[in-house]
Amino acid sequence: MNHARSAALQQRAESLLPGGVDSPVRAFRAVGGHPPFVTRGQGAYLWDEDGNRYIDYFGSWGPMILGHAFPPAVEAIQAAATRSASFGASTAAEGDLAELVVKAFPSIEKLRFVSSGTEATMSAIRLARAFTGRKYIIKFEGCYHGHSDGLLVKAGSGVATFSIPGSAGVPDEIAHLTLALPFNDLDAVQKAFATYKDQIAAIIVEPVVGNAGTIPPGHGYLEALRALTTVEGALLIFDEVMTGFRLSLGGAQELYRIQPDLTTLGKIVGGGLPCAAFGGRAEIMNQLAPLGPVYQAGTLSGNPLAMAAGIATVGYLVKHRVEVYAQLESVTDTVANGVAAEASKAGIAMTTNRVGAMWTWFFTGSPVTDYASAAQSDTATFAVFHRAMMEQGIWLPCSQYEAAFLGIAHSIADAEATIAASRKAFASVAE
Ligand code: PLP
Repeated sequence: MNHARSAALQQRAESLLPGGVDSPVRAFRAVGGHPPFVTRGQGAYLWDEDGNRYIDYFGSWGPMILGHAFPPAVEAIQAAATRSASFGASTAAEGDLAELVVKAFPSIEKLRFVSSGTEATMSAIRLARAFTGRKYIIKFEGCYHGHSDGLLVKAGSGVATFSIPGSAGVPDEIAHLTLALPFNDLDAVQKAFATYKDQIAAIIVEPVVGNAGTIPPGHGYLEALRALTTVEGALLIFDEVMTGFRLSLGGAQELYRIQPDLTTLGKIVGGGLPCAAFGGRAEIMNQLAPLGPVYQAGTLSGNPLAMAAGIATVGYLVKHRVEVYAQLESVTDTVANGVAAEASKAGIAMTTNRVGAMWTWFFTGSPVTDYASAAQSDTATFAVFHRAMMEQGIWLPCSQYEAAFLGIAHSIADAEATIAASRKAFASVAE
């Protein structure tokens, strides 16, 4: 593959943007090789500045469940743009998308739109503290909830990729209010509630972890978190920025039949435009200004282009939910298991974790149930595998600690091409 143009653009970008990027993992530091500069996407494919084509398995880190340039979404965005990119005033579209969300997520009675997942989780935490009158929160090691100060403690995604325990610039006084516990360990949660009796406002959790790589909840774990928070008077916040509309229309909470008090959504809800939301029980949401004392606002919140893309995307998922989720399950199963079988034939230790159209190939022979076990993965071997796949036009997430995603545009033929490419990639890993 030729990478000359991307390499030149990277050089220019590095002189202007820290690390040449606007979000750290895009720099490919964990895997090496050239970060391709993208010119366009269509369906399951991306093209770079040098004309190389890739099967896309990261889907803009989650939103592109209907594939790139999905015609109904493109048309909706174009039509909205002709009426103006932004008003800073209320539109019917906000209610239209809110109705779709509330129907898909019965635990959400009211919601507010924001522009990123970071804002959604940050605002949900503020609301939980105000509602309970308590200050501590519990999060889990390896879960990433965006880059607000209190949520960067032992976080996943890029924070895990670059082995940063917490970010510089976060005062200890703020980090101390976040209790970071191992995922899938109920004892740790019980002990925290005992030690900080009546002081814990909320548990925030990725119900299926995606940001340490994919880690499903153990049997009964989410149910126990629900029961414990109820008994202790704390709120349960499901961060479904990644899992919402992906694992099923109603996200992980539908799949595992749990009703959280608050839910955060992002990625798919805006169909690839900057859009996210947080919502839950009306008595909690009514604490937000202008009704209540919790301040939260946004110049571009409920942006008309984002609402249009969200309505087109979520509307399609609602209308075609049975076929969509059946197809996602079957194509993901084919590619996830097919590549795992090639690893096993090549004698490479690998653990495959998958829930619906979200999965990770961990380069370790041991089960991965929390961040500590994910961190046992051989990241150097993952990097060789990643580069070998890129060179064959298969673009996987560029860190071991990220989930891969697939959308409805991916075909069985794409899955088979990926499995064939992995055979060659594993041969280069073994060399
Ligand atoms: N929560 C989860 C579970 C995420 O995966 C992410 C981003 O990947 C976020 C929150 C933050 O979202 P954003 O990047 O839109 O700020």
